[in-house]
Amino acid sequence: MNFDLTDEQDQLRDAVRALGRRYGHEYFVARARAGEHTTELWAEAGRLGYLGVNIPTEYGGGGGGITELAIVCEELAAAGCPLLLLVVSPAIAATVIARHGTEEQRKRFLPGFADGSLKVVFAITEPEAGSNFHRLGTVARRDGDDWLLSGRKCYISGVDEAQFVLVVARTEDATTGKLKPALFVVPTDAAGMTRSKLDMEILSPENQFLLYLDDVRLPADALVGDLDSGLPALFSGLNPERITVAAMGAGTGRYAIERASAYTATRKVWGGRTIGSHQGVAHPLAHAAVQVELARLMIYKAATLYDAGRDLEAGVSANMAKYAAGEAAALAVDTAVQVHGGAGMTTEYGVATLLGAVRAGRIAPVSREMILNFVAQHVLGQDKSY
Ligand SMILES: Cc1cc2nc3c(=O)[nH]c(=O)nc-3n(C[C@H](O)[C@H](O)[C@H](O)COP(=O)(O)OP(=O)(O)OC[C@H]3O[C@@H](n4cnc5c(N)ncnc54)[C@H](O)[C@@H]3O)c2cc1C
Repeated sequence: MNFDLTDEQDQLRDAVRALGRRYGHEYFVARARAGEHTTELWAEAGRLGYLGVNIPTEYGGGGGGITELAIVCEELAAAGCPLLLLVVSPAIAATVIARHGTEEQRKRFLPGFADGSLKVVFAITEPEAGSNFHRLGTVARRDGDDWLLSGRKCYISGVDEAQFVLVVARTEDATTGKLKPALFVVPTDAAGMTRSKLDMEILSPENQFLLYLDDVRLPADALVGDLDSGLPALFSGLNPERITVAAMGAGTGRYAIERASAYTATRKVWGGRTIGSHQGVAHPLAHAAVQVELARLMIYKAATLYDAGRDLEAGVSANMAKYAAGEAAALAVDTAVQVHGGAGMTTEYGVATLLGAVRAGRIAPVSREMILNFVAQHVLGQDKSY
């Protein structure tokens, strides 16, 4: 058993940390308040190769795995810049195309993922279906060689920054008449696709959208892979999604604890003693630090299993990691706010600014309840309850 990163992974972590710190949480918050994106940070991370660490080298990427991408997500978040688009674009969309796209699709899209010039966001959630993806109602119909796509999607992150949306739809199986999943790469400016921005209580430079698809006409090669790739393609994106979103949560937790520890180690209100010398202040912080570190262990276990091609085992660990990191991040930020006292609610101290984001991390991209359902069923052997 080995808990060490390789030398290369260590160097990547140090380099990403240095980049993240040059931008920092103030930059992230300023962009969010201005209704702008973290364009400079994304571009620089892309130029330095950090956004394409998991893309195969033959397409211009770093040739690493989800472990490397998790390191990037964690370190940027630990510097106060949790970028959700790292989860949807390089983790989900690039993995789906790399593993299930045609060779032409790989050649067309992967070099852009590798240098960060291409952003592809991911649309599965629908207003009616919610967590129950079996009820997806976005349908793809054949029209000659083309496809016509119709349906509605909600909470789709980053549509305004992306060139494409990877849309999860369903086609009708010609032999059985049953509907089965199919993934399409849809240009964000496609005729027939409109969007409206959702007002969210999350301070973030990344936005969520409702998407309306009304007979969006797509060429045959917009379908990822072929008609049999839908289900495996969809599943191939899930473990990278859970692992990288967990890494983002763990990084956010580390950031909050670091800010809080710096504050409590210097703030004095009772004589000459720091507030951190009181166990009522230090213990909750230490408890949160333990939870974050436990989540990190599961994140890197899941990433290691995934990169070793052990998808089924990775699935259990990735779900557990996502659950643990979601809870740990929310605890860490809430505790960090508390130990700051009134300062915790100011913008200046940079912790309450993350409350909305970590709260959302217990709901999306998969809710804590759906993970508990998964663990109960697949680990504990319980009957499916829904
Ligand atoms: C900030 C943010 C960004 C997002 N970005 C994207 C994106 O880029 N792309 C995308 O496709 N989606 C995105 N989503 C959507 C997200 O994946 C969904 O919100 C999430 O999967 C939950 O679905 P829902 O909101 O429909 O909740 P519902 O399914 O309506 O669930 C409501 C509540 O009931 C619980 N529940 C439902 N069924 C069960 C059950 N069987 N057992 C126990 N509890 C249950 C849920 O856990 C939840 O607490 C985003 C959401 C947020 C908040």
